Amino acid sequence: MKYISTRGQSDEKTFTEAVATGLAPDGGLYLPKTLPNIAPRLKQWADLSYPDLCFEFMKLFATDMLEDKLRTIVDASYSNFSRKEIAPLVKLDGHLSVLELFHGPTLAFKDFALQLLGNLYEEQIERTGDPINVLGATSGDTGSAAIHGLLGKKGVRIFILYPQGRVSMLQERQMTTTAERNVYPIAIEGSFDDAQAMVKDAFGDANLKARYSLSAINSINLARILAQCVYYIWAWLQLDEDARKRGVQFVVPTGNFGNVLAGWLTREMGLPIEGFRVATNQNDILCRLFNTGHYEVTAVEPSVAPSMDIQVASNFERFLYYSVGQDPERVRTVMEQFKAKGKYTFEDFDRSAFSATRMDDKEIHETIESIYGRYKYVADPHTACAFKDLDESKTNIVLATAHPAKFPEVIEEALGRTPTAPSLEAIKNEPIVNYMLPAEGEALAEFLKEHAKGSE
Ligand SMILES: *Cc1c(COP(=O)(O)O)cnc(C)c1O
Repeated sequence: MKYISTRGQSDEKTFTEAVATGLAPDGGLYLPKTLPNIAPRLKQWADLSYPDLCFEFMKLFATDMLEDKLRTIVDASYSNFSRKEIAPLVKLDGHLSVLELFHGPTLAFKDFALQLLGNLYEEQIERTGDPINVLGATSGDTGSAAIHGLLGKKGVRIFILYPQGRVSMLQERQMTTTAERNVYPIAIEGSFDDAQAMVKDAFGDANLKARYSLSAINSINLARILAQCVYYIWAWLQLDEDARKRGVQFVVPTGNFGNVLAGWLTREMGLPIEGFRVATNQNDILCRLFNTGHYEVTAVEPSVAPSMDIQVASNFERFLYYSVGQDPERVRTVMEQFKAKGKYTFEDFDRSAFSATRMDDKEIHETIESIYGRYKYVADPHTACAFKDLDESKTNIVLATAHPAKFPEVIEEALGRTPTAPSLEAIKNEPIVNYMLPAEGEALAEFLKEHAKGSE
């Protein structure tokens, strides 16, 4: 299997090369050159455990890796989940189930991809002998999931910048109480934008980047998308004949479009899914796009579902590639116009498999309350966004992207009770061990020179 860039101006890569590269040199994102047809395999896959299913699926893509290696990597990646099913499908009523994607080490769905990516990086370092320094800025979930994907891995150091005092207490503790020496949580005296600007500067410094082989934790790595495909297949395989016949709708709380894109790809590979619901918070660029064809950036307004507070949905480019007939030249034209003007209107893109909704903070609070009233189920603020205008004649599968205990204040306000999770209780009183830097690029460069692992 070969991988191509959505912008068509980079060389084809093998799986391990595409994973090691991240963003393609032409600025595009990697995709499989052709998609396999998984429909004939579904019967054989029906009774597999989650790791077995993941292995069978990834085997179709990681064709330049030894199967034994892949097997070990997949098994290790799902060994730190607290539930045997890995992704339990919880039935709320006849037409509605919740796929719980929050039983990984940091209690958010990003663990599915970042546990696997961490193990793939480790394999790469063993193979090449070159160390990697992972660098990123976070406003919460991605940073902690990336840290927990790389904990204690040989040859990797991870530097995560976050705005001091502006991530939640629990998110900060997930990043700063690991006691692993390869983890560098750095509190910045500034905003998330300041932290992100510092990271951007570091990547722009060719010297620094080459000397320390700096690597990003962004959501665009091919391996992250493929890892996320697996739970759509897993969920579909749990359904009975009747549920499938009614038509299966996945309802996906969406920010960067990474999660829902993975689901859509499995449909392109032959999984019989009728459609997808793109559920956004008040930052509704994607809701507007799927309802009107008009894609336009507006300012981000912080919400109670902060992991969906995004401006530009970077993974949308992968969907765009298919919707313009796999024509990289058209992808480049759209992306250039979008970059220049901050907006683009699609005349003829096929959005028939999608519907979209948005929810503001007030509705999120009310919805957490009504879900609890109706089903005695506690949904986190991101998951709550999915419970809007569901078509009860269909089989709806809501993706639960975070554990409610990660957002105790919102749940407390809505339900008058505080959800807990053992892994969070365990770290609540642990001392924070972090580094502090002023919001200056120079300070980060100095810090990296002192702490990053060079390949000399
Ligand atoms: C990252 C995240 C999302 C959004 O996922 P995308 O792939 O960016 O659409 C939703 N909910 C939670 C809890 C997240 O951490």
